[in-house]
Amino acid sequence: MRVWNFNPGPSTIPDSVMEKAQAEFLDYQGLGLGIVEMSHRSPEYLKVAEAAEAKLRQLMEIPDDYTVLFEQGGGRGQFAAIPLNLLPEDGFADYFVTGHWSRSAYKECAERFGDARLHECVFTNKDGYYEVDMSKMQVTKGATYAYLCLNETVNGVELFDLPDTGDVPLIADLSSNVLTRPIDVRKFGALVFGAQKNIAPAGLTVTIVRKDLLGRARKYTPSVLDWTVLDKYESMFNTPNSFAWYMAGLAFDWIEANGGTKGMEERNIKKSSLIYDYIDESGFYRTQVAPKDRSRVNVVFNLLNEDLNAEFLAQAKERHLIGLKGHKVLGGMRASLYNAMELKGVEELHKFMREFAEAHS
Ligand SMILES: *Cc1c(COP(=O)(O)O)cnc(C)c1O
Repeated sequence: MRVWNFNPGPSTIPDSVMEKAQAEFLDYQGLGLGIVEMSHRSPEYLKVAEAAEAKLRQLMEIPDDYTVLFEQGGGRGQFAAIPLNLLPEDGFADYFVTGHWSRSAYKECAERFGDARLHECVFTNKDGYYEVDMSKMQVTKGATYAYLCLNETVNGVELFDLPDTGDVPLIADLSSNVLTRPIDVRKFGALVFGAQKNIAPAGLTVTIVRKDLLGRARKYTPSVLDWTVLDKYESMFNTPNSFAWYMAGLAFDWIEANGGTKGMEERNIKKSSLIYDYIDESGFYRTQVAPKDRSRVNVVFNLLNEDLNAEFLAQAKERHLIGLKGHKVLGGMRASLYNAMELKGVEELHKFMREFAEAHS
């Protein structure tokens, strides 16, 4: 049987996507070989790759003046690729930090590539909640780009507003909330995301870049991280993660069949409200995040009595609810409710949380 998988990434994938991949695994469409065995340059595979890109373009309404690159190296690879592709040696960039991942991106740039300006954009409010202060997201005159993370997977903080950065390109990490709601690609110079949270297996990273930002990479940028090279070779400068790219295509079809980004947003609001509303009224659990900034995909919470953590996780597992342990830097719990997590799974989690609280109050 399949469990309800709340892991933060790699994470749950829709049953129908897994089943399709399984059915085609040994023999893809009568060719007598599987996708994982196929040349990435064969006409059959190119069709798979192109269809996936076209579907992503359609789902995200990506304008033609943006290129879409299918890469490897993960979100962290892009933390390096962003300054290498955009930041001149004598330039500087603004980093709007709202949690663990934007801080990691800031550090990668500051410690290895150049002048990154840190803007702390969260504070603890009078109710003790972690809250985003949009007024801190001010670009510095002369900045090459401004950077932010649209959903802080570890902290459970999501941005629903964007700062006005004027002519300074806004670069964003969407690793954990891509395709979970509509976003306006036009507002960004570049978007980066790993596939292993809302889309596919690990090992695939997508970068969407406005084409006028190409051609600026530093001379020593490794070719495999150079967006201009990848654009020129249509993401086949070297061997891509062909299987994850194929799985991404299946997931894009599934998202389309389930209402696209609007459909995903409705589902994700329903799922996350069920848990947040219960947490707020429970008197047994608490979330640290201010209501307006609560992530719809990573619900981070604590038991007021932390001595019960191990028992909570063990009993959850008996109910086939797995992956609820919080990130090591925060402790506590985290339920990741990505696109593929069904409402049914979240209802099971809600029921378990209620019963656990009743049994221990
Ligand atoms: C998971 C995650 C990353 C790191 O991704 P890797 O693929 O492990 O490098 C970066 N940013 C965000 C927002 C994430 O959720």
